[in-house]
Amino acid sequence: MIEKNSSLKAFNSFSIDAHAHLLFHFQQLSELPQLLALIKKTRAANKPILVLGGGSNTLFCNDFSGLVIKVELMGITQSENDQYHLLEVAAGEDWHELVEDTVAQGIDGLENLALIPGVVGAAPVQNIGAYGVEFKDFCTSVDYIDLEEGTLKTLSNEGCLFAYRDSIFKGELKDRALITSVSLKLPKQWQAHCRYGLLQGLDETESSVSAQQIFDSVCRIRSEKLPDPKVLGNAGSFFKNPIVSDNLSEQLLSHHPDMPHYPQDDGSVKLAAGWLIDQCGLKGKKIGGAAVHLQQALVLINEDGKATASDVIQLAWHVREQVLHKFAVLLEHEVRFIDAQGETNLLQVIENV
Ligand SMILES: Cc1cc2nc3c(=O)[nH]c(=O)nc-3n(C[C@H](O)[C@H](O)[C@H](O)COP(=O)(O)OP(=O)(O)OC[C@H]3O[C@@H](n4cnc5c(N)ncnc54)[C@H](O)[C@@H]3O)c2cc1C
Repeated sequence: MIEKNSSLKAFNSFSIDAHAHLLFHFQQLSELPQLLALIKKTRAANKPILVLGGGSNTLFCNDFSGLVIKVELMGITQSENDQYHLLEVAAGEDWHELVEDTVAQGIDGLENLALIPGVVGAAPVQNIGAYGVEFKDFCTSVDYIDLEEGTLKTLSNEGCLFAYRDSIFKGELKDRALITSVSLKLPKQWQAHCRYGLLQGLDETESSVSAQQIFDSVCRIRSEKLPDPKVLGNAGSFFKNPIVSDNLSEQLLSHHPDMPHYPQDDGSVKLAAGWLIDQCGLKGKKIGGAAVHLQQALVLINEDGKATASDVIQLAWHVREQVLHKFAVLLEHEVRFIDAQGETNLLQVIENV
C-alpha cells in the first residue's frame, strides 16, 4: 500500500511529527516487483530511500523528501534438532513479542533482550543488546533484498560483521539492504546470563533460576528505569556508551573513583554514558519540549508530546558539549538521525537549527 505526504508521527517512538513524501507498507514478498519499480522511480528522481521498522531508534530531523519503506513482513517458522531450536522470523514481527512467546514456550535464550522496542528486521542493524547478551549470539543468518540489484541474498553471522551496536548494515550495506528475515539458533542446553547490571542479584546456576524469571526481572527493571515510548516519546539510550583508552580511563578514575568502567578485551575501557551525563547535572534539563529524563540521564524524552526535532537536536548537542567539557569524552549518538535527504548526524544538523 502506498501513501502520499504521510505523517510519520505514529511510526517513530519520539512521536516527532515529520512527513514522508511517499510511504510504502511492505507486507508481502509478492509485492517486491511493485516495490522495486517504486525504488527505481525514486532513484531516477534523485530522491532518497529509507527502510523503517518500528521507528524506535530513529529521529526524524525534518520531513523526508523521498520514499519510506515500512517493513511489515510477518511469519515465524520453527524447527529443532537434537541440540538447537531453530527459528526463521520475518522482519516485521515485533521483537519483544518474539522474546515473550519463545520464553513462554520453553525456548530459552532471548530473555535478556526482553522489552527492547522495535521489529525483528532492525535487530541485526545495530546488533541489539542488553544485560550482557547481544542479537549476534543467536543469529545464524540474515536474509535481505539487495536494493541495488533487486535480488534476495543471505549473509551468515560472520558476514554480518556484528560488533557493539554495529553491523555491516550500518556500514557497507547501509541504504542497500532491506532485511526480510533472520534465522536464529537457540541451544537446548540453556545458559543463564545474570552477571550484568541489576540482574546480578539472580543466581546463574540453572537449577535456581529460569529463563522466565530472568525475562520477568528484565521487564520489571526496564519498566522501572526506562520510560514507555507509548506514554512518553523517546528512543531509548540516546548515546552509545563511549569506549576510551585505558590512559584516559585512569586519568578520569583518579578524579572520579566511583566512575563505572568496564575494561574491554582489547585494552580499551567502556564507560557509562548515562553516568557521565548525570555527573554534569543534566537530569531534567529541558530545551523546548525535549528533556533529559529524570530517572535515566541517557534517555532524552519528548516531554509534552509537542517537542520538535529541533528541540531534541539542541538538547543532544548541549549534553554532548557538557560531557566533552567535563570529561574530555566525546559521546556518539546511538539514535539514527534522518534528514530530508537521508541519514545525517548531530554535527551536521546542529548547524541548521
Ligand atoms: C525505550 C527504549 C529502549 C531501548 N532499549 C534498547 C536496548 O536495550 N538495546 C538496544 O540495542 N536498543 C535499544 N533501543 C533501541 C531500539 O529499540 C533498537 O535499536 C531496535 O532494534 C530498533 O528497532 P526499530 O524497528 O524501531 O528500528 P527503526 O528505528 O525503525 O530502524 C532502526 C535502523 O534500522 C534500519 N532498519 C529497520 N528495519 C530494517 C530492515 N528490515 N532492513 C534494513 N534496515 C532496517 C533503519 O533504516 C534504521 O537505520 C531502545 C529503544 C527504546 C525506545
